Amino acid sequence: MAKEDTELRMGRPRSVRFNSLFSEDEFGEDQPSASPASGGSSWSDREPSLHLPVPDTFPGSSPGTLGDSMEDTSATSLLSPTIREGWLDKNPPQGSYIYQRRWVKLDPDYLRYFDSEKDTYSKRLIPVSSISRVSSVGDQKFEVVTNNRNFVFRAENDADRNEWIRTLQQIAEERKGKAAVRTSMSLATDSATEPADKSGFLELRGFKHKLFVVVAGDKVFLYKNAEDYRLGIGITYIEMNVGNVKEVDRRSFDLTTPYRIFSFSADSEQEKEEWVEAMQQSITEALSNSEVAERIWAVESNRFCADCGSPKPDWASINLCVVICKRCAGEHRGLGPGITKVRSLKMDRKVWTEELIELFQRFGNIMANQFWAANVPPSEAISPTSGSQERRRFLIAKYREGKYRHYHPLFGNQEELDRALCAAVTTSDLAETQALLFCGASVTCDTGDPQCPTPLALAERSGQRLQMEFLLHNKTSEPPRLEMVCSEEKPYSVHLPSITHNGFLYKTPSMVKPISERKGPEEFSRRWCTLQDGVLSYYENDRNTVPNGEIRVEEIVCLVNNPLHAHGIESTFEVYTEADRLYLFGLESPASAREWLKSIAKSFVHPCAEELLALDFERLGRLHYKGGLTLERAQEGWFALVGSTLHVCSEDGRRQEPLQLRKLQELSIQGDHEVLVLVERRRTLYIQGERKLDFLGWVHAIQKAASSSGDTLSEQQLTESDVPLLVDRCIDYITQCGLTSEGIYRKSGQNSKTTSLLEVLQRDARCVRLKEGEHHVDDVANTLKRFFRDLGDGLFTRRWAPNWLWATALEDEGAKVGEYRQLLAALPPVNRATLKALINHLFRVQCFSGENQMNTHNLAIVFGPTLFQTDGKDYKAGRVVEDLISHYVEIFNVNDQEMKKQQDEITAIMKMREASSSGTQQAGDFICTVYLEEKKTETEQHVKIPATMTAEELTFEILDRRKIVMKEKDYWSCFEVNEREEAERPLHYSEKVLPILHCLGTESYLVVKKQMSMENMLLYLASRVGDCKHGMMKFREERNLLGLGLSTGFHDRYFILNHSWLRLYKEVRSLRQRSPPLESSHKPEKEWPVRNLKVYLGVKKKLRPPTCWGFTVFYENEKHEKQQWYLCCDTQADLREWFATFLQVQNGGALWPSERPRARVARPLQDARLGNISLIPLRGNESEMRNSVAAFATDPLTLLRNV
Ligand SMILES: [Zn+2]
Repeated sequence: MAKEDTELRMGRPRSVRFNSLFSEDEFGEDQPSASPASGGSSWSDREPSLHLPVPDTFPGSSPGTLGDSMEDTSATSLLSPTIREGWLDKNPPQGSYIYQRRWVKLDPDYLRYFDSEKDTYSKRLIPVSSISRVSSVGDQKFEVVTNNRNFVFRAENDADRNEWIRTLQQIAEERKGKAAVRTSMSLATDSATEPADKSGFLELRGFKHKLFVVVAGDKVFLYKNAEDYRLGIGITYIEMNVGNVKEVDRRSFDLTTPYRIFSFSADSEQEKEEWVEAMQQSITEALSNSEVAERIWAVESNRFCADCGSPKPDWASINLCVVICKRCAGEHRGLGPGITKVRSLKMDRKVWTEELIELFQRFGNIMANQFWAANVPPSEAISPTSGSQERRRFLIAKYREGKYRHYHPLFGNQEELDRALCAAVTTSDLAETQALLFCGASVTCDTGDPQCPTPLALAERSGQRLQMEFLLHNKTSEPPRLEMVCSEEKPYSVHLPSITHNGFLYKTPSMVKPISERKGPEEFSRRWCTLQDGVLSYYENDRNTVPNGEIRVEEIVCLVNNPLHAHGIESTFEVYTEADRLYLFGLESPASAREWLKSIAKSFVHPCAEELLALDFERLGRLHYKGGLTLERAQEGWFALVGSTLHVCSEDGRRQEPLQLRKLQELSIQGDHEVLVLVERRRTLYIQGERKLDFLGWVHAIQKAASSSGDTLSEQQLTESDVPLLVDRCIDYITQCGLTSEGIYRKSGQNSKTTSLLEVLQRDARCVRLKEGEHHVDDVANTLKRFFRDLGDGLFTRRWAPNWLWATALEDEGAKVGEYRQLLAALPPVNRATLKALINHLFRVQCFSGENQMNTHNLAIVFGPTLFQTDGKDYKAGRVVEDLISHYVEIFNVNDQEMKKQQDEITAIMKMREASSSGTQQAGDFICTVYLEEKKTETEQHVKIPATMTAEELTFEILDRRKIVMKEKDYWSCFEVNEREEAERPLHYSEKVLPILHCLGTESYLVVKKQMSMENMLLYLASRVGDCKHGMMKFREERNLLGLGLSTGFHDRYFILNHSWLRLYKEVRSLRQRSPPLESSHKPEKEWPVRNLKVYLGVKKKLRPPTCWGFTVFYENEKHEKQQWYLCCDTQADLREWFATFLQVQNGGALWPSERPRARVARPLQDARLGNISLIPLRGNESEMRNSVAAFATDPLTLLRNV
């Protein structure tokens, strides 16, 4: 396109000026006037020009004026501070004699000049790092000498000239010092260019010749040609934080900024796509937050990649505590999260806690390398220019094998290492912890201290926050091992079968975001693709030998087979990589697409998961997950999604039973979209999002697969017993609330409510809780009917419905029932189960026909046409329903026990309703969140709490779910933890959980963990005589509302605890002299009935307890007046004895059940009987909670005892 009309079309007021900036003659201006004397300058030999894209911007470390001012902003390229600026005359280009007036600006990185001070884009930029000399050349002129170009400027007067020279020299000197340091660090580098994200020639509208364009980090640089790029002398750069990229046509795209539109054209469509992608990536980077990076870079050594020495590394390994460059980060990822956990300083905002940042500041690259890189032979070290293979080899040796590390003297002696670790974590010596940990000390070793069983707990007790942080991130780290290289530790990188496949595929440019829109055929380009030697490569065409790009199969993490016609090409599939990229390929023939899929799958799936290859998967890949027996450590597993079934192979090759996603009890995302939790009846699976892109895809796919997919029965979300959840929810609700409602199922509810209820239930019945206040029984009843009436294929199926209707004509009752039984057996399992559940329900409804007026016949009139989807003129359909209800027991083979159970259940419900008919609501399940061992997202369990559930049963429920077997002397108990008070209370095994839940405030939660002191408490109780205890304790009273009582400090008091009272005495001495019991004349200062006390272990730190063995005691009398006070003992043993006595007195004897198994057997029975009695959800609002407290003030069990 001609340059002239471009300028016209740009039509911006300032376009003339801008265009003149980039006018062709400008390039003449800087033609090398002379090469500098090459031998003369001092340091340019050692440090050849550092080329532009990754400029060194680090000012001197010496505390000086300039250094300081730059220090603050060195990370923010956006705001490079101007050190000096002003008008200067620039010497004329060749062939001209007229000096040109230029606005010249110097910042820590560049000397640039502009047409005017208002301009954003320079005419020329000279990196400070390339300046070798600045000298005066007379006539108020001075010369800036770079490696092979000279720039001459003329100032208005000598003073100005001298000031320019001085400043430039100083900046260049500082840079020189910095460069020398870097050279030694990284063994840099000859004239090869710094890595750019993308570089090459592009046409820029307005220029005759192509420009050499470089995308690097958050900037795009323009050079006149490749040689200039090599030398570092550029035209200008574009800050991408203000950029916006838009494709224009097949080869062109615009980079728009508020100051100018840059219209580029590439040589090919593929090229264009790659440029667009690179620039978009650059914008993302520019917009990312650099606050964390700046803070971490504040430490000198963190400003260069710990591995290769590249400047401004903006990635990190958070467990190794090293700051690394983007290229090294890519290779780190390949090592796996067991070795290094890679995060971005700029983009992964949420991992950067204060502690972690501080850890990086205190620890960082120097400390890490003193250990990891203690013995690196120069021949093996890498530099910023090293290729990716070299990098990989080095990083494997460094971190996976630990080849260069500084061995700890205790290396090889596990016991000693562990002991030393336990000692180190209580100090601030992070280097020691690092050395121990990565020489084999176990982060989960047994400390031998029951109060602090892990090194983490020790660190916490010692207040070593940074140690804790370091340990936390290394919880799952594997220590380096030399033999690992040849072992199968990294399953997917070894012994992969070599698969070969090739052919043409359609391909779009790779993406960093999920595909949200359908891609039209024009967005695909035809590429020759080969899968060979573990690399999937794509070429411009089948004659090319240099690929446009390639994907190593061990980097593939996920493969997705899209439904046909998802995009403009008939069959498409997606490939996701470790580096969070997504490649979309397409083919016109589904059969060939399938072949490609199978070949790629075979090439990247580890043999341990081979069986997944046989599946017709929609999605296949590897993910980290926790589940089953290995909750401490996430493991890698292979997952395949087929329909609504998720197949899982664990890394040890064990195939687990597939998960039926439609039968999940819970499916939720936790931890800020990082963990997907799947709860099934028998197990819980936590899938972790290691990478964003493929994880997101999995989440959506699993959510979709777990929801109803159509309008037939088998496509619904199902209960464990194959009944659609929707049906189950409605039946359950009517059973709870509508059995006695007059005209139930006959009265029509509100049409609009029915419609919306059906809609939400169909969308995700798992999340719907029907509540009495919110949903009218008739609306729910109508919803159920509507569901059956609209059901695709009907409950009896189109195939079999005529046979059912026909059977009604049989006159012999016995023959008819026999026929029904046969027909029932012929139904698909889900239909059969649903029919049984429904008829069972209708059977119950007619039991109450005295109240609800719905006898069998009436129900049949309603349900016949509904279930058979007929108009109801013919009673045959009704006849079937009537027969099914009347012969319910025979047809469905219901035994006496089942019948009895149901009767009991109904009776219980009716009694419950009568008892609470005074207006309290009830509905929905009382679901409570309970943690295992500690409060963390991954340890969350959601438990339905029946009214009868005891702490012991709850404990077993949690342990069962995690398949933890309670061993002798493992005193697993349920604790109520009060975070605000920093105190906790082990529940007595026989305590009912539900009333406790109702009293829990928002700062409290339940956790199941081992009760470490139980054994000692039992020993103490067994050994002592009598059941009371007395002695000194330190006492502190909470200031009450009126400000009365002791307000500060702990005071010695004498206490006596007997079977009914706790008494406090001030007169210690006189008491001690008297042996047995106290004289009645001695009145206690205070006394409390023991049953009104709740005793918690722990006293909040804010109160400065004199010892760490304290109690927090809550007292509440019959009038609901409350008091709270604190006790501290002198020794741990003393605390244990007091606490044991409290427990014993309060619970009337045993602290621990003598026979465990009894409780286990009893639980399911109780569960089954009361399983359907629903209560207010715990997560309801506050007033709901309060109401329900009233309902449970009386033990609901008493209502049921007469059943
Ligand atoms: Zn690096």
